[in-house]
Amino acid sequence: MAINAIKGMNDILPGDVETWQFLETAARRVFGTYGFAEIRTPVVEKTDLFCRSIGETTDIVEKEMYTFNDKSDNSLTLRPEGTAPVMRAFIQNRLHTLDPVNKLYYMGPMFRYERPQKGRYRQFHQIGAEVIGVESPLIDAQVLAMLHHYFCEIGIDAVQLQVNSLGCPECRPGYRQALTLFLESRLTSLCTDCQRRYKTNPLRVLDCKVPGCKEATKEAPSVLQHLCVSCEDHFSAVKENLTALDIPFAVNARMVRGLDYYVRTTFELVTDQLGSQNAVAAGGRYDGLVESLDGPALPGIGFAIGVERLVLMKVSAKISAPRPDIFLASVGQEATEKAFVLMSQLQRAGVRAEMDYQGKSLKAQMRRANRLQARYALILGEQELQTGLADLKDMDQSSQQQIKLGDLVGLMEGSGSSA
Ligand code: ATP
Ligand code: MG
Repeated sequence: MAINAIKGMNDILPGDVETWQFLETAARRVFGTYGFAEIRTPVVEKTDLFCRSIGETTDIVEKEMYTFNDKSDNSLTLRPEGTAPVMRAFIQNRLHTLDPVNKLYYMGPMFRYERPQKGRYRQFHQIGAEVIGVESPLIDAQVLAMLHHYFCEIGIDAVQLQVNSLGCPECRPGYRQALTLFLESRLTSLCTDCQRRYKTNPLRVLDCKVPGCKEATKEAPSVLQHLCVSCEDHFSAVKENLTALDIPFAVNARMVRGLDYYVRTTFELVTDQLGSQNAVAAGGRYDGLVESLDGPALPGIGFAIGVERLVLMKVSAKISAPRPDIFLASVGQEATEKAFVLMSQLQRAGVRAEMDYQGKSLKAQMRRANRLQARYALILGEQELQTGLADLKDMDQSSQQQIKLGDLVGLMEGSGSSA
């Protein structure tokens, strides 16, 4: 029996991959403008890294990680997200000694053992960015402005930016207590998961997708009412800065994030186009994270964009594969050899040239030229070889022009879409 890919893990095929490349190129361009540099970390890390950073009682660590022992019995995990590995690399390579402010971005596959469905996969891809070393609320707004800029650049506007503040180690315990008390009074209306969560991680109950839990927590106390003065000031400044930059946003006091390291500003970009997989990007501040991983006490903030969800939103404006600039058809062995050399010269000159390698009939060759939507076609036969002249067919205009074979590369160079 043929071997198929693992459930929830997808191939990205030609025809689709162009959209991915477009999204990646735009990220490099936009993030570069804001002074971000790319960082690439391994796909596998020690399991401990994720347990300590994301939190033992989160969905990711409790049930979604691909964890295995290697042959030396080390517990390893396929990265479920990008922030913890980037912080690990930041600490290990002492990047803070090079510059007090580090702006980094990454892109690549992440792995979570979730139930596969539209917009939710077991291998999925994130494009993310992190800033380490700045506590000022200016940077919160800057990061959100960059995210907003990116979405404008890729032409996706059906998203709403929602922001919240989750407080800090000073004020969150007070909120946690108030929320726990509230949940205790509604315990019987909660799902079994939440009946357990309300003790271990009560904030997560607010994030539960079960309708009964949503209903039961409608009147839950708001985290924003429990912020300490410095968190409140920080959040006010973030909102003011966003307004100053003309970045539209809505405050969503019920937004909690599925990772424990978040403090203060958290945010999501949500859409109503993807059913229940409504978050296309998410992030927030993680001021204690670097220190908790035994690094310097530096604040941080970042986001991750779900690329599959972007692609799903972008399907209407699908970016097509580039068409060949020219297709060289040939009749006879000698002409095929000549076509082969010409094709290589054209490719060297940056022209997308294509030919038939297998001695197909002229009709079949022209069919393929049409299917590939080649811009031009040139037929080489005995006569063309003898005279050194050939007809260059403009496939779009259905016209043709006689050219010297020796001029072909020069003519095509610069006229091609890839030049
Ligand atoms: P969700 O609430 O949809 O489960 P999340 O809060 O777990 O998302 P994050 O950990 O914040 O997501 O990851 C950032 C982004 O990565 C999400 O907003 C989403 O676009 C994308 N993402 C997360 N998990 C998956 C997945 N299993 N498949 C595809 N994309 C995902
Ligand atoms: Mg999730």
